[in-house]
Amino acid sequence: MGVPPMTKVFALLVLLTTGLGPVAEPEYIVAGDKGYDDDLKAAGYVNGHMDPDRMLSFRGCLLERDAAYMYALMYEAAERDGVRLRTEDCYRTYGEQDAAYNRRCPWTEVPASASPGSSGVKKVRICSGPPTAPAGKSFHGWGRAIDFKTSRGILSCYSDDFHWLKNNAHRFGWVHPAWAHCGKKTEEPWHWEFAGVTDPTLVEFVEMDRDRLPLAE
Ligand SMILES: [Zn+2]
Repeated sequence: MGVPPMTKVFALLVLLTTGLGPVAEPEYIVAGDKGYDDDLKAAGYVNGHMDPDRMLSFRGCLLERDAAYMYALMYEAAERDGVRLRTEDCYRTYGEQDAAYNRRCPWTEVPASASPGSSGVKKVRICSGPPTAPAGKSFHGWGRAIDFKTSRGILSCYSDDFHWLKNNAHRFGWVHPAWAHCGKKTEEPWHWEFAGVTDPTLVEFVEMDRDRLPLAE
């Protein structure tokens, strides 16, 4: 892997400021452990109703443009390391998220009272399977979440792709939110969110083929 020019500049600065001694590797500071949406909210965008002008598609994955651009860079970096990222689900409209939530958490009739002999029922939502956010609450609705898969199905905690993402995704502003970590009841190794980057100069920008840049849809 070649050393990108910005990293060279950074390394030089480190050398100048630390004097002699080993040159520190640039440290990527992750913006957070979950996606961020403050900028989109402030600009008046609505979860699940994203303006098509703000959306870009990369290899069949429709995302908010900043997330899409960083995903494209991440995809290329993975490819250079021999990992081919595959996506199962990216942007979800409000209606799509609502349908997914209703499938996962259907309204179910249960006895209104636990006391024996009582009559009447009430309706509650009973959820099963991995957690699904209600419509309007998911980062998929901002176009800033991806569910990854492999050639053999949904991404697992043990797949090479997952390990690559764990080690590298933060360089491109993509994070695995804390609630989705492996070993948790709510684990979702496939679900990643865009959290932005604290210092874009640390991102390894390389020239992309023109025909591989994210496209407006
Ligand atoms: Zn997801």
